Amino acid sequence: MIYKKVTLKRGKEESLQRFHPWVFSGAIATADDTIEEGDLVTVYAHDGTLIGNGHSQIGSIAVRMLTFDDTTIDEAFYEQRLREAYQMRQALGLQREDNNAFRLVHGEGDFLPGLVVDIYGPTAVMQAHSPGMHFARNAIANALTRLPGVNNVYYKSETTLPYKAHLDPVNDYIVGKMETDEALENGLRFHVDWLKGQKTGFFVDQRENRSLLEHYSKGRKVLNMFCYTGGFSVYALRGGAQMVHSVDSSAKAVRLTDDNVALNFPPEDGRHKSFAEDAFKFLDNMEENAYDLIILDPPAFAKHKSALRNALVGYRRLNAKALEKIAPGSILFTFSCSQAVNKEQFRLAVFSAAAQAKRKVRILHQLTQPADHPINIYHPEGEYLKGLVLYVE
Ligand code: SAH
Repeated sequence: MIYKKVTLKRGKEESLQRFHPWVFSGAIATADDTIEEGDLVTVYAHDGTLIGNGHSQIGSIAVRMLTFDDTTIDEAFYEQRLREAYQMRQALGLQREDNNAFRLVHGEGDFLPGLVVDIYGPTAVMQAHSPGMHFARNAIANALTRLPGVNNVYYKSETTLPYKAHLDPVNDYIVGKMETDEALENGLRFHVDWLKGQKTGFFVDQRENRSLLEHYSKGRKVLNMFCYTGGFSVYALRGGAQMVHSVDSSAKAVRLTDDNVALNFPPEDGRHKSFAEDAFKFLDNMEENAYDLIILDPPAFAKHKSALRNALVGYRRLNAKALEKIAPGSILFTFSCSQAVNKEQFRLAVFSAAAQAKRKVRILHQLTQPADHPINIYHPEGEYLKGLVLYVE
């Protein structure tokens, strides 16, 4: 089907012909005056060749491409893309008796730019990052319910829609209702608060990195910094840690962590303690050698390219504080989820921290996002999670 027309400047079709899914506003020569934010549009090269269909948006990304042909964008289209995403997760073995939390749709990585869907048992939590996906929410929710195991669809867009779009964001069930807030990850139980929590309520992207941490936890004194729902803490406890301390500046996050520890371990266990404190302060006051396994998983220090320099300073300072006091023979799991910081820059920040702390440091693992957060090969910007596991003497 053909929608309202957008024509590119000469030469600006090249990245789209290599299937990059974004049209920047500066690439547009002419556009129908009737185009409104979130409308479906058909994009043409300067010579009139049809490139594909996408969602329009006001801003530097002016169109997010959904197809590279003239396929109609309707409920059947969304159903097809969701099925493909679902089949891929089936191939990954993520929906099992002991695991029912995973990302079903990772935006551009699943050829659905602007859409994120996480699955928690019978509930799909859906977030629109573009006006086009916001307008398509009912069609997408209907299509979601036709996937095996999805009974409820919660739509959460209050924090993700572009602020300038004046769209009346909604946080509500589109289909079904609250059935259970409990999800299973590798046999561990977690309460997921999609109603009030950050993002979709849980960070499924750390699943494999938590498993790796479990493997290193036996007998260790663990500090889980920026704990949020306590994911790393619960894995460390199951891995046989001697003690686990969880820190987050948000009192609510600390409560979520305590609840999740209680969900998995009996009250007499006694190995876990949590602290509602600022990370930098906690590290300043921390005794030397108090911990021999530290996790640093801060929020994105750079949400945009403009904040890159400050972000790199932030990563260096944070890592230096941990490296200065961590016990000899320790392991440090350190992460950055800033999309604007690439893995070389992050590694350089950690290298500077190690040099500042004057420790002997070796890289044991280089971590990234898991396979249910795939990177569209034509859209390298989709790579965001970076981690290093260090051995510190
Ligand atoms: N590691 C978590 C995710 C961390 S999200 C997981 O595996 O799920 C980042 C967390 O950092 C949020 O919970 C936020 O409340 C917390 N945070 C942000 N700034 C902080 C600060 N200065 N000190 C401590 N915690 C902070």
